[in-house]
Amino acid sequence: MSYTNTPQNRVKWKYWRLNGLSENSTEQSMSDILSDFSQFYILLLLSEGPIHGYGLIKEFKKRTGKTLSAGTIYPFLQKLEEQGLVKRSEKAVGKKPKIIYSLTAKGKKFTDALFKRFAAITASAIEPSLQTCSSCGVRIYEGGYIEEIDGRKMAFCCVHCAAAFKEHQGHSHHS
Ligand SMILES: [Zn+2]
Repeated sequence: MSYTNTPQNRVKWKYWRLNGLSENSTEQSMSDILSDFSQFYILLLLSEGPIHGYGLIKEFKKRTGKTLSAGTIYPFLQKLEEQGLVKRSEKAVGKKPKIIYSLTAKGKKFTDALFKRFAAITASAIEPSLQTCSSCGVRIYEGGYIEEIDGRKMAFCCVHCAAAFKEHQGHSHHS
């Protein structure tokens, strides 16, 4: 097994070491989990640009190691088309016209929202405490302020909230 030092592999490497699992069994179960996201993957691939059905199958296989069946792809693409999220166009390739699928403007908005939601879910799994201000409890979307207090990484909406929190902590035994 060759190990290339990409950021992705560094994360994987850390994961394996933390869990004491062998590289292969972990990789296998990750593929199993990720391939259940077949609809998510199809939208992800579509968001990267126009693609034909076979291209979706090929890319899915490349990224997950799993085979995506035509029975999964085409009914889903049809559903997306009916919802106005995907449009198809024909492109002549040699003698046969090829059907290319691409996201509509509505589809682009839809996938943007979907990926943002997905990112929010995974972010809260990674750092649950970094989602809300530790002082005032407001949700932090971006531009938050992180400070380590008593060895714990804490998130605040702004420096003033961090100062207020420390002040309150420092004087709490008086009240
Ligand atoms: Zn705050």
